[in-house]
Amino acid sequence: MEDIENCIFCRIVRREIDSKVLLHDDHITAFDDINPVAPIHVLIVPNRHFGSLGDLQKGEESLLGMMVQTGYRLAKQLGVEKSGFRLVINNGPEAGQSVDHLHFHLIGGRRLGWPPG
Ligand code: 5GP
Ligand code: ZN
Repeated sequence: MEDIENCIFCRIVRREIDSKVLLHDDHITAFDDINPVAPIHVLIVPNRHFGSLGDLQKGEESLLGMMVQTGYRLAKQLGVEKSGFRLVINNGPEAGQSVDHLHFHLIGGRRLGWPPG
């Protein structure tokens, strides 16, 4: 069973933990990463708890579209649409997922290396 009581991102969505929230709507919350790896580093999370991509059920895929669109809009607002930005999901241990609540990283504001480490 999902531990939505103690999940850090669920707690941020419920405003039980402070964070710099840039956007909060019926489905999605976006807030600054506590440990930014670039001048712009925003986390975009569904308000509902999904541990990772594998927890999305058929019919729930539209949530991903909303998250991507939110990321794009924030990239525009934050002035990195033209310079470039990344929207990244670290899914699972080898990808470095450290919080088990599905999220996109919006990263920008500097030149980003490829391939990622
Ligand atoms: P992951 O490693 O799972 O892809 O990304 C998790 C991200 O959550 C990390 O970049 C980490 O810095 C961020 N993070 C972890 N705990 C907190 C927190 O309490 N508040 C905020 N704003 N970000 C957090
Ligand atoms: Zn959660």
